[in-house]
Amino acid sequence: MTHTTYLGFPRIGRRRELKRALEKYWHDGDAASLLDTARTLRQRHWQLAKAAGIGSIPVNDFSLYDHVLDTAVLFDAVPDRYRSLLRNDPLAGYFAMARGNRDLHALEMTKWFDTNYHYIVPELHAGQRFRLTANKPLAEWLEARGLGVDARPVLLGPVSFLRLSKTVDDSDALNLLDALIPAYIELLEQLAQAGVTWVQLDEPCLVQDLDEVTKHAYTTAYSTLAIGPTPKRLLATYFGGLGDNLALATSLPVDGLHIDLVRAPEQLDAVLAELPKHCVLSAGVIDGRNIWRSHPSHVTPLLEKIVASRSHELAWIAPSCSLLHVPIDAAQETSLPADLLSWLSFAQQKLEEIRYYADALNGDEKANAFLVKQTALLSARTQAHGIHRNDVRARVNALSPQATQRRSNLAHRRRVQADALSLPPLPTTTIGSFPQTDTLRHARAEHRAERIDNQTYETVLREEIERAIRFQERIGLDVLVHGEPERNDMVEYFGEQLEGFAFTRQGWVQSYGSRCVKPPIIWGDVSRPKPMTVQWSRYAQSLTDKPVKGMLTGPVTVLQWSFVRDDLPRDQVCLQLALALRDEVHDLEKADIHVIQIDEPALREGLPIRHADHAAYLDWAVRCFRITAGGTRDATQIHTHMCYSEFNDIIEAVAALDADVISIESSRSRMELLQAFEDFHYPGSIGPGVYDIHSPRVPSKEEMVDLLERALTVLEPGQLWVNPDCGLKTRGWKETEPALTAMVNAAQSLRAAL
Ligand code: GLN
Ligand code: ZN
Repeated sequence: MTHTTYLGFPRIGRRRELKRALEKYWHDGDAASLLDTARTLRQRHWQLAKAAGIGSIPVNDFSLYDHVLDTAVLFDAVPDRYRSLLRNDPLAGYFAMARGNRDLHALEMTKWFDTNYHYIVPELHAGQRFRLTANKPLAEWLEARGLGVDARPVLLGPVSFLRLSKTVDDSDALNLLDALIPAYIELLEQLAQAGVTWVQLDEPCLVQDLDEVTKHAYTTAYSTLAIGPTPKRLLATYFGGLGDNLALATSLPVDGLHIDLVRAPEQLDAVLAELPKHCVLSAGVIDGRNIWRSHPSHVTPLLEKIVASRSHELAWIAPSCSLLHVPIDAAQETSLPADLLSWLSFAQQKLEEIRYYADALNGDEKANAFLVKQTALLSARTQAHGIHRNDVRARVNALSPQATQRRSNLAHRRRVQADALSLPPLPTTTIGSFPQTDTLRHARAEHRAERIDNQTYETVLREEIERAIRFQERIGLDVLVHGEPERNDMVEYFGEQLEGFAFTRQGWVQSYGSRCVKPPIIWGDVSRPKPMTVQWSRYAQSLTDKPVKGMLTGPVTVLQWSFVRDDLPRDQVCLQLALALRDEVHDLEKADIHVIQIDEPALREGLPIRHADHAAYLDWAVRCFRITAGGTRDATQIHTHMCYSEFNDIIEAVAALDADVISIESSRSRMELLQAFEDFHYPGSIGPGVYDIHSPRVPSKEEMVDLLERALTVLEPGQLWVNPDCGLKTRGWKETEPALTAMVNAAQSLRAAL
């Protein structure tokens, strides 16, 4: 019998029960009810996998907040500041690490590889000690056993754990390996003693570019763990191919290896050749990162190859990675078109698919019939209306190199724009959104529920815009914005108006802790039936003589924050988006909007895991941005915005965007990032954010003057813009008004000194 498994399941619950329970606990401190919900969810998910016929079920994939944080707590890698709280009230201590409390700031959070999931970064230091504390993996294994499930505890492997951690003293976290390994040994020993047969050791870092020190760490760690007593070890790799780490991974003394055959199907032959004969191969053949049903014509040949070269017992079938990155159940989507729904596979459907593939391999007729039907559905998909639109494809194919060009170069444009806009030196602006008030949220909800009509809703929006314009004029900002009151979300707003997009009701995916996102689905060819933002920008401009900045989300960001169709390369989908947005840019220009911002906060996070793939990605990402902005008049000033502060490795690409002005987050790094721009002789204008919009604190004029003076040591005065770090939609007017007033005053007093 071919074995079936998966590496992890979404934790949040089909109705985001965990989110609600967490928020309730943070509000009322009722731990029992939180733990009760958590247990119910875990058990429900095991039962569900069991009912789907999955042979080997993981435990300890569940977490109240984050599995990397769980690992740090498991091995007592806890910074001193949390210790006493953690001892007195373990839950309160845990959440203080995750999100801070009145007295303690939280640990850092960062993106989990190239996903939209964020993990808590453990904080280590040279000489750090580790010890096994309350054994959560064992507790969850016992809990599952109580339900008759013989489960496989999931652990983050020691090398990935250290590589994903940071040190506060700049020491190399890998130096701590010798200190850490005994704690892992003890853990494995306890699990073995309890009767655990398999554990899963996640080492996603094996798909990254690794230096010799890390490779050596892998060899040391895994040969030490093998000495035992220990359950059998499944080494799990995902998010890409092993590449040049293949020999290393297959040489480690483990009992099974999981590989990602969705992102890297080409690695199968080499893995089959190198993997020791007694080793289990867990084949990640179902996409754990996307929501489409798998193609039997892609999957079956891979599986047949595997069972031709090793026995069925040594072949496991699984999704490519944990199912954490997809929603739970497509059957909850009652309002999607039936054909689209039939192409979708969320976590629950993926488990079913796994089961059918395994059964089909064993000659089961029902399973074969299922796969035949799936093949038919997917071939219907290729023919479905909207999947392949000749007009959209023809436009993409007809794109000439000219389409990526502005009419003149940056230096020339700068002169033309200076005349056309006549802005003062150190011009002030904001990033786009203004506070989303209760009135606004209420009106949007009422409008969605069709309790108020379009006209009433639009009146509310117009009033918000007018208020924003009057406010900006009053405090003396130079380039105004309309404030984005019509947008719930910067991607959803555009997706809802573009063809080729669909939206789910319950398609939530955990972003971090209790925070979930509901990415739109790009299922068909993308086009823009009509202008999306023009009426709002035009209305705002009609209220003032100051320039109003049009506001768009860029093509790369829309792509990055959506579930993207798997039947067309991503760069092609992005080109379609770029053309749709280009039409919007040109319509804004025609409506006399002379400043247009195209936000690309997700440009950097699209970077592939391997450095060798960066250039190709950046190449098409930059091309798409340039197509969006291409062809505009010299007098039209194109802005872009990015909200992160690491630019060193992408500065060339950022410059290649050829934007006239870029605004970036930088207040928290105290303008340090500007060095990258100076070293590169960045030619455009830059607005390094002068205050952190994530905090309700109102910054003083003096501290902003100080930041701007720092910026002026690196940038030419003619290059510098003055703006906050990011949009203000999560802030209240109460702090926004004094903060922006102080910002304008800071710019004015520096101007006087120029
Ligand atoms: N224009 C958007 C806003 O101000 C930008 C948001 C972002 O960068 N994430 O809200
Ligand atoms: Zn931003």
